[in-house]
Amino acid sequence: MPAMNPLLFRLSWVVLALLTACGKESSADPRAKHLVLLTVDTVRADRLGCYGGPNPASPTVDRLAEQGVLFEHAYTPRGLTLPSMATFFTSKYPEEHGVTDNKKRLRPDEVLLAELLRESGFRNRAYVATLILRPERCNIEQGFLPGTYALVADEVQMTRDAVRFLDNKFGKTERREFLWVHYLAPHAPYKPPKWLQHQFTDPAYEGPDGSRKSLDGIYVNQVELEEEQRRHIEGLYDESIRFTDDAIGQILEALDRTGVRDETLVVFASDHGEDLYSHNYYYYHGNSIYRSCTQVPLIFQQSGQVAVGHRVSEMVSTLDFLPTVLGWLGIEDTGTGRRGIDLGPWLRGEEADGRPLIFSQWDSTIFSARDQNWSYIWNPQDHTPSGPPEEGEYPIETEELYDLSNDPDEQFNVASSHSKIVERLKRAVQRWRSELQVRRGEDAELTEELLQDLRELGYLEDGP
Ligand SMILES: [Zn+2]
Repeated sequence: MPAMNPLLFRLSWVVLALLTACGKESSADPRAKHLVLLTVDTVRADRLGCYGGPNPASPTVDRLAEQGVLFEHAYTPRGLTLPSMATFFTSKYPEEHGVTDNKKRLRPDEVLLAELLRESGFRNRAYVATLILRPERCNIEQGFLPGTYALVADEVQMTRDAVRFLDNKFGKTERREFLWVHYLAPHAPYKPPKWLQHQFTDPAYEGPDGSRKSLDGIYVNQVELEEEQRRHIEGLYDESIRFTDDAIGQILEALDRTGVRDETLVVFASDHGEDLYSHNYYYYHGNSIYRSCTQVPLIFQQSGQVAVGHRVSEMVSTLDFLPTVLGWLGIEDTGTGRRGIDLGPWLRGEEADGRPLIFSQWDSTIFSARDQNWSYIWNPQDHTPSGPPEEGEYPIETEELYDLSNDPDEQFNVASSHSKIVERLKRAVQRWRSELQVRRGEDAELTEELLQDLRELGYLEDGP
């Protein structure tokens, strides 16, 4: 590309975008023309190299973090795919957008990110690998024109499709582009592709593996694992992360080839983490409300615009994704009831205040509040999440409190010896709940096909 004053260059497409858009641009100066969102299902933040992971599972994502801004303490309000992704795209808590579990769907009157972008002249495109985000089932595809939101179960094929789209279409016209790609591979069972097997595992190992039967058995029978066994299962999980990292590398290389990489804000995130035996012998995420599942990786990158190598220690939420990208793209939000804050100052390398408290929930039953020092869980009905597998039980005490400075993995409940902190955080949860604009989501139609999908992903029991 010939040398050109970067500001003039940027202004030229801003003016063009303004001329071609029929929607609402805010008066703010946009910093990016295009948006690429890369989400990977079930990536526990602390397995990635840039978050301190023990295996080299994420060289591409680590490099992206070095080139951009990484949020060290980002959380989802619910550790489950559909509620979490609905929060990304609405900036609302699950009970506010109504999708409190994977069987609900968004109300058609929710105003989602893709709708705002399309109204502003963007061409939207999505490739998702999980049945949970299947179009026409959950309404999360609102804002994508028919034929532009693809469920591709084969993730190798999905990468090929997304790369082809980037090579042939992305940035080839004056239109602004939004591309979302969602991978699934790290989701249980932990079955890395053949070419990655034994990257982080010992081929001579014999013992429990990452199959659903094995993971279910460990959880239901409360099997005490040896260190080597835990390491092996985590290695399989990391090998699956490594697969998605390679795929993301291919997508970013294709984005480089478009010639518009510098005008594109790239966001990497996960919908939720994974317990990996941290609590109640459990390897999955659906029952958990702990940090292992609510903390997510969150990284923003754009050459020449987003600060380089900046790590933010303040607490933020996936609620903040929508206002941040809208602000960065210069798009006005016509939706209401948003809960997010704009993370733009950090993206520009400035200091700002994060959230003093982060709230999460398990369904509408168990709640948590955390600050930088303490994590509090309140289970007022003494509910025990159970399954699937339904033979398993995931006991959570009425009140749990963890001292994060000594116990970041939330292993030792100190609620009984810290009544003042418990009272303060319980009051905060009650205040948060009293201010929620609760709306019931629509139930998705429970077709046999949907039930089969949920079964395949382990969210329902097998068979009648
Ligand atoms: Zn998920």
